[in-house]
Amino acid sequence: MPRGFVSFAEVKQAVTMEAVLTRYGLFAVLAQKGKNLVGSCPFCKGKSPRQFQVNLVKNAWYCFGCKAGGNVLDFVAKSESVSVRTAALRLDSWFALGLGEETPRPAPAAVPAEPPQAREEEAPRENPPLTFTLKTLDPHHESLASLGLGAATIERFGAGYCTKGLLKGRLAIPIHNGRGELVAYAGLAVEEGETPRYLFPPNFHPALEVFNLDRLAEFVHEDGPLYLVPEIEGVLRLADMGVAPVIGLFDGSLSPEQEEAISGAVSLYDKLVLVGEGFPERTVAHLARHIAVSWISHPRSESLPEEEP
Ligand SMILES: [Zn+2]
Repeated sequence: MPRGFVSFAEVKQAVTMEAVLTRYGLFAVLAQKGKNLVGSCPFCKGKSPRQFQVNLVKNAWYCFGCKAGGNVLDFVAKSESVSVRTAALRLDSWFALGLGEETPRPAPAAVPAEPPQAREEEAPRENPPLTFTLKTLDPHHESLASLGLGAATIERFGAGYCTKGLLKGRLAIPIHNGRGELVAYAGLAVEEGETPRYLFPPNFHPALEVFNLDRLAEFVHEDGPLYLVPEIEGVLRLADMGVAPVIGLFDGSLSPEQEEAISGAVSLYDKLVLVGEGFPERTVAHLARHIAVSWISHPRSESLPEEEP
């Protein structure tokens, strides 16, 4: 364990993601899209060519596959399998920053050093990928008219009216995990007042997923905030209004897994805009720990993308 004190903030300010990626030989292999770099993930080695993204302006990175992300310190800590503190000292040394001090400053007793591997060692709970797909979903079915969604939007999400099985008589909406694997279909009621509004398969855990997160990779090169809605229907509604990127929770509540996934993804954005009612205070408070949050209660298609808090 290296000795000495080094300020994380000073190291972060002194070293860019570009410099770190160059040192690892990764800068040249990532594709540049506006202010972002995209490519396959150096950690999980996922197959998606857009899974791993770097925001060069914010000096942040995130992988939509393994959901790892953060700043330059987190990147080096993960690459070298060391603590964030050791990563800071290595960056100090690699780039000759001269920020480290020989004598450790007395650390505040209330802030114990966090073992970086602690979280990763917990067995991740996951929804297993489905072994089938629903092939007869009809995005143009007349029963869907009451939802007021465009058929093109419904089709774009791979959704459609379901005529048999558990979701019979509902709009079946495929749900993918962060790696883009299909893990469930949600059944949205199409009639006003029909309950329950959503049906999920009995073994599916919505609290482990963030709806549409896997598709953020398609939009991250665009400027602007990330939008979050409390339920998956809202994602389709905003998409119908031409708003992207947008992700959705399932009932407005935020599990630790969802918070972690969103906190990673938002590192690429400047702001998170909550759209709609149905966000408990706790959800808003937890999200605000990671990014500037504003809240639009009643979306209007003409005002939404430009609206400020
Ligand atoms: Zn990854």
